[in-house]
Amino acid sequence: MKSYRKELWFNVKKRREFIHITPQVEECIRESGIKEGFVLVNAMHITASVFINDNESGLHHDYEKWLEGLAPHAPTSQYRHNVGEDNADAHLKRTVMGREVVVAITNGELDFGTWERIFYGEFDGRRKKRVLVKIIGE
Ligand code: ZN
Repeated sequence: MKSYRKELWFNVKKRREFIHITPQVEECIRESGIKEGFVLVNAMHITASVFINDNESGLHHDYEKWLEGLAPHAPTSQYRHNVGEDNADAHLKRTVMGREVVVAITNGELDFGTWERIFYGEFDGRRKKRVLVKIIGE
């Protein structure tokens, strides 16, 4: 069995953003040389997510509105976590959107449904953060 590990780094300019990372994950699979196996992609921060969904801007707007309705950023004083920081909403948003995805690799490609794509979800940006890509297989 072969294994491969890489970190993808992000420095999002805004507090919140969704970034399409399928091309970077495909590049990792090519670099790994693994044809049959699994790829794990996870955020290494508790205020960011990795998730799979449609690469469609209307949906991303809908996510933003929905998440802000569930856990509004302001007023920051509404959260007990916000003592000396202001990112309680980001922790809650990350919980809803998930930590990681695992995708099968078949014949050297992501074995996806038609519209599945991988995204990095940032909920407390404006600093360097990273995503782990771990691939195992043959
Ligand atoms: Zn925090």
